[in-house]
Amino acid sequence: MSVLIVGAGPVGLVLALSLRQRGIPYRLTDKAAERLPWSRALGIQARSLEMLDRLGLAQRILEEALPIHGACLHLGRRVVRARFRGMHPRFPSMVILPQARTEAILEAAGPPPERGVAFEGLREGRAVLRHADGREELAEAEWIVGCDGAHSAVRHALGDPFRGKRYDARLVLTDAHVEGLEPGFLHVAVSPPLLGFGLPGGLWRLVTTVPEGAPPPPENDMAPFRRRGIAPHDPVWWSAFGISQRQVASMRKGRVVLAGDAAHVHSPAGGQGMNIGMQDAWSLASALAAGPDAVEAAVEAWALQRHAVARRVLRATDRTTRAMLTAPGFLAPLRGALLALAFRTPPLVRRFEAETAGLRYPPIPD
Ligand SMILES: Cc1cc2nc3c(=O)[nH]c(=O)nc-3n(C[C@H](O)[C@H](O)[C@H](O)COP(=O)(O)OP(=O)(O)OC[C@H]3O[C@@H](n4cnc5c(N)ncnc54)[C@H](O)[C@@H]3O)c2cc1C
Repeated sequence: MSVLIVGAGPVGLVLALSLRQRGIPYRLTDKAAERLPWSRALGIQARSLEMLDRLGLAQRILEEALPIHGACLHLGRRVVRARFRGMHPRFPSMVILPQARTEAILEAAGPPPERGVAFEGLREGRAVLRHADGREELAEAEWIVGCDGAHSAVRHALGDPFRGKRYDARLVLTDAHVEGLEPGFLHVAVSPPLLGFGLPGGLWRLVTTVPEGAPPPPENDMAPFRRRGIAPHDPVWWSAFGISQRQVASMRKGRVVLAGDAAHVHSPAGGQGMNIGMQDAWSLASALAAGPDAVEAAVEAWALQRHAVARRVLRATDRTTRAMLTAPGFLAPLRGALLALAFRTPPLVRRFEAETAGLRYPPIPD
């Protein structure tokens, strides 16, 4: 058994570590010369911490990450607070750590990926790899796994249509300094929508929307993020981007498999993309370890189960994203009142906490 992993983002790194733990030989390649420095995904769910614990890394993550204790809803001067009760027996429901740090911790736990090696296509069942010096290599492996992100070359090689949609509105985000917000809580404002998370080290991630048809604000502009009591300044990262929701028709074609963003993308509103991707990877390693007679059936079952999980996540994220992007401004007071009611209704807070913790999705296999 040998596995070629294309892409050393969080999903490829988790797959590599999970295969290594099971004694399955693999090769981990990435076209980039080095890791991306941006914070990107911040939230790590309790469900992912269970999995990282089996890789011996949960404690290392918890040492650096900030736990989330609940959410604060900002309604002008009024702040309504909903506390999580701590649903997981061992881990906080969610912790915050910039993706660059999560990747650094994962990367340090195993042999370094082969960098500057780009997957270009498939030829007679083998992977065409292009090295940084221009050399072409035809790589043979029993399984090829595309963990190469939203623009996956492996997915292109399989000809999957990656069906879905692009939203008309855009998101703007910043990592900036903000005074006056309580760390350890997710902060929400409704009109216009704003989400805020405290990062380890004192910066804040703020995310808001640019309405459909409106021009994007100038780079580093803090105005879109200002609300009563929320005054960001000195951004260290600022980005405006369009968002899509897409999913492959199948996560597997023969012995070529797709995982993570290569197989499903959605808006960051749900904070789930990296989490379900890392969980794809862990459970794929478990399927690949099934033994020569059972591995085909195990990978097929994996592909069906993970496709269904991603479909559920995409549906839930689509509801949140549409609520953020498309609700007309005059409905804002009503939405604020409804959200305030939800924040004070314990079963709804528990449901939100379970979603945040990833506990509404299947448990991690051994
Ligand atoms: C602004 C932002 C905020 C986000 N917030 C969250 C959040 O809070 N929570 C959450 O769970 N998710 C979040 N996400 C999503 C999260 O970042 C992605 O889901 C996650 O990075 C997917 O990991 P991946 O390993 O599948 O792909 P990637 O991280 O994209 O990694 C793919 C890797 O493949 C390599 N590669 C690409 N093409 C090739 C090729 N042809 N050959 C070889 N290597 C190749 C790339 O260099 C890269 O290293 C956010 C995303 C963004 C942009």
